[in-house]
Amino acid sequence: MKAAIAPRGLIILDRDGVINRDSAAFVKSADEWRPLPGSIGAIADLSKAGFTVAVASNQSGLARGLFDRAALRGMHRKLRRLVGAQGGRVDRIVVCPHGPDDGCSCRKPLPGLLHRLARHYEASLEGVPVIGDSARDLEAARAAGATPLLVRTGNGTRTEASLDDAFAGIAIYDDLAAAAAALLEQ
Ligand SMILES: [Mg+2]
Ligand SMILES: [Zn+2]
Repeated sequence: MKAAIAPRGLIILDRDGVINRDSAAFVKSADEWRPLPGSIGAIADLSKAGFTVAVASNQSGLARGLFDRAALRGMHRKLRRLVGAQGGRVDRIVVCPHGPDDGCSCRKPLPGLLHRLARHYEASLEGVPVIGDSARDLEAARAAGATPLLVRTGNGTRTEASLDDAFAGIAIYDDLAAAAAALLEQ
């Protein structure tokens, strides 16, 4: 059955560096999974305002053996619980479990994860905001025909400083809360 999208549409978020603190040593457990200030409230606000919020995340730590599926489920239970406690909902989470040399089609900057969401919702991604902190998020968004938005959390400041000309003029926000506020005003 076709999964329903809320009236105001779909929004796709990267996870690490957008919703939670990223770590060069990888985020390996629910305990290490720490939300960035305002991110949980932003997701709850979007969801309560009638957006469907989905997450698309590279998790090569699985391929690297740094954590397992159970640990990943624990992180995502924590995310869903925190958002739920504020009256919102994360509708769907898709991850690429592969490493950079696995030759998969889902690891961003490839658009496979976004295509998977498009199939799930049987929806076009045209005009769908994809919010990320790294160039590969923006590239995946564009490759899938979605609209890339950059936040300055995580790798975002560095990404902004070295932004390819192809992404000149995209919307850039200090954090997810600011991006959500802008989307809620539209
Ligand atoms: Mg990221
Ligand atoms: Zn993959």
